[in-house]
Amino acid sequence: MKKHNFSPGPCILPASVMAKAAEAVVEYNGIGLSLIEMSHRSKEFVEIMESARNLVLEHLGLSNKGYQVLFLQGGASMEFLMVAYNLLQNKAAYLNTGTWSTKAIKEAKMFGELVEVASSKDQNFNYIPANFEVPADVDYFHITSNNTIFGTQLQEIPNTTVPLVCDMSSDIFSRQMDFSKFDLIYAGAQKNMGPAGTTLVVVKEDILGKVDRQIPSMLDYNVHIGKDSMFNTPPVFAVYVSLLTLQWLKDLGGISEIEKINNAKADLLYGEIDRNPLFKGFVANPADRSKMNATFNLAENANKGLFDQLWNEAGINGLNGHRSVGGYRASMYNALSLDSVQVLVDVMKEFEQKS
Ligand SMILES: *Cc1c(COP(=O)(O)O)cnc(C)c1O
Repeated sequence: MKKHNFSPGPCILPASVMAKAAEAVVEYNGIGLSLIEMSHRSKEFVEIMESARNLVLEHLGLSNKGYQVLFLQGGASMEFLMVAYNLLQNKAAYLNTGTWSTKAIKEAKMFGELVEVASSKDQNFNYIPANFEVPADVDYFHITSNNTIFGTQLQEIPNTTVPLVCDMSSDIFSRQMDFSKFDLIYAGAQKNMGPAGTTLVVVKEDILGKVDRQIPSMLDYNVHIGKDSMFNTPPVFAVYVSLLTLQWLKDLGGISEIEKINNAKADLLYGEIDRNPLFKGFVANPADRSKMNATFNLAENANKGLFDQLWNEAGINGLNGHRSVGGYRASMYNALSLDSVQVLVDVMKEFEQKS
């Protein structure tokens, strides 16, 4: 039986996507070749790459607005340094909201002066700092829209006069926003878009080419743009499965439709966390709660062994919290159904009755 997969990443993908991907590995579209044994320069693959790049812009409402889409490798972790390599001439500002922001800051420090405009480290990142100021003289401002490990999410895009860069790894394509406020968005595919192995970069072309250092080809966004995201052999399987997921999302009605489902899932689970006396949410202010990753703990003296037994028996997978937070984390990415969240909520109720 297929599990109710609450894994934080690599994560659940739509079953229909999985079926099509499996088929393409055996033979792509009846051409007598597997997707993963044909040239990336073939007509078939070039079409896959172009469709994926265009569909990303279509979903984000960024077509014909000066943005370029790249499918790169090295994960979001590579973008931590690539962003700075390409954009940081003197000084950059960062909002520190968790482990991933902290890592992005560490890498960028190698390229210039960093201003940490605010940090929630003082309370183990259980809130999103408010009332911070971004200096006007920085090359860019970097934020993390969703903090996968701690379960917090930025509800509003900060207004800035400087280019805005966002690590959107764990909530891209999950909610509607004015994406044109961002100058560079990056996201590891494996959280909400596809399998591990590719990283999506959406970049406004006019912010590039402004640093005077030399950039190695593989780390230069302009080099990848010049080669239509095929400077070197792209991760063909990961790009194809990402395309299938983007098509699945389009068939469903796009981001505005998935957002309704994501809201319903989050309401259902947080409703139970707040109602059930045996659970407490990790995030200090409910307004900062993530709709993708819900973090929670058991109340003191609650029977952990029993709860773990019940959710395991119900076929739930991937519920343990990250080691830096403890407790539990239910990741509810786009492909996770409301039914799966209902199964978890039923288990939480059953746990209350049996305790
Ligand atoms: C998972 C994650 C990363 C790291 O991604 P890799 O692809 O493993 O490098 C970075 N940022 C966020 C927000 C993440 O959730």
